[in-house]
Amino acid sequence: MGKSQSLYSTGTFAVNVPLITEATYEGSFYTTTDTTSSEHHETYSTVMLQKLIVVKDLEANVYSCYIATIIPAEENATKNSTKIDKMFYGGDPNSDFSGTIVYSTVTTNYTIGVEKYTKGQLCGYKSMFYASENHLADLDDMTDLLGSARLKRNVRTLTKNSEFGGGGSYWLPDVIITAPKTTPTPPPPPPSLPPPYVPPTNSIPDYYYPPAYIPPAQPPRTGSGTGSSQQYPVPRVTSPGASAPDIAAALNAVVEAINDVLPEIYEKLKAMGVDLNKYKIKFATNCYTNAIKEKDGTIGICQKFVYNGYTINDQVAIIWHEIYHVDNDKIVGDGQILPSAIMIENVPSHIEHHIKTVELNFPGSSLEDYKGEISIKMLQSPQYYRNEIAAYKAEIATHKNVSSKYNQERAYVLWKHEQTLIISEKYYKK
Ligand SMILES: [Zn+2]
Repeated sequence: MGKSQSLYSTGTFAVNVPLITEATYEGSFYTTTDTTSSEHHETYSTVMLQKLIVVKDLEANVYSCYIATIIPAEENATKNSTKIDKMFYGGDPNSDFSGTIVYSTVTTNYTIGVEKYTKGQLCGYKSMFYASENHLADLDDMTDLLGSARLKRNVRTLTKNSEFGGGGSYWLPDVIITAPKTTPTPPPPPPSLPPPYVPPTNSIPDYYYPPAYIPPAQPPRTGSGTGSSQQYPVPRVTSPGASAPDIAAALNAVVEAINDVLPEIYEKLKAMGVDLNKYKIKFATNCYTNAIKEKDGTIGICQKFVYNGYTINDQVAIIWHEIYHVDNDKIVGDGQILPSAIMIENVPSHIEHHIKTVELNFPGSSLEDYKGEISIKMLQSPQYYRNEIAAYKAEIATHKNVSSKYNQERAYVLWKHEQTLIISEKYYKK
């Protein structure tokens, strides 16, 4: 029934053993796992395949076994489990598999992880490998990732002498395993897992672990992508690159500085209930602000974000502000370059002071620079400023622990947007 296949990648060595199981499984799955709607209408049916995955963590020199239940995505749904066998190998870095993998422990059948792949890219991931405080929420996430409507178990007889008679199939009633948002109580927490494995050092004798205790190795990774979980959460940006070596090096330095702070920003946003991994982020090279929202909803992080002395709380507030834009902005009409600049009048003295001492704090700044700072040359439609004002007000109300430097900066920008909105409403008469 198929050959076993072994794969070596990223510090692990995985052997995939096709299983001849007593039962084959067939299930119907929701085509979307939209957790915001309480109704899941569309389902598709497919058979599933189970494999035994033996994985060796080469660094820690430990083995673990998992049952991988392979559920193809809708476009690969099939009635033929050998097709699935060809689609997926655990630990295959070149996989282009689309679908869901459920890893369970062999003897106890605890679900240890759920992975979702699109064309080999890991796009969703929840693991119980490191039991976290939020394991109930993790289980909910797992259920959503799995998105299964019904599981049907087809028990095959193994021998001619079995009680069901030779060679036939016996259909059990449908097994409802989960129905998102209709089950009032979450599944019980998993029994406590073995503690994370600590490799023995030379000072600890080999008999430190009880003979029967097998420290676990994580299920092997397949394909690529970062998914979303506390183990593989870290959002990253990449450098656009440049042909000139010095420019490429400068861009790489910014990218590195951004990637250095993203994990902490991710964690802090997560503590506020915001998942940064749900948003597209990139390094934006063509901006002079801290961060921007691009037309397609990508959050662009600018150089100033890491080179302006902001605290981590400032940076969290800045990213949160862009996320607010992505989630709440109303459509903006066209703006235009004005035939002649309009100057904001009646600037309060504390604002004038801020502009002169902070915004224009560079050698040789002049009165002309000050006039330029309060002049509007490019006038957006009123909704643009309404979006900004809403984002800043929400940010200021939500993120109070920012530095006084950034607090002043955003108060100034908010003031300027409010003034420009008045001008824009007059100019565009709406
Ligand atoms: Zn904004």
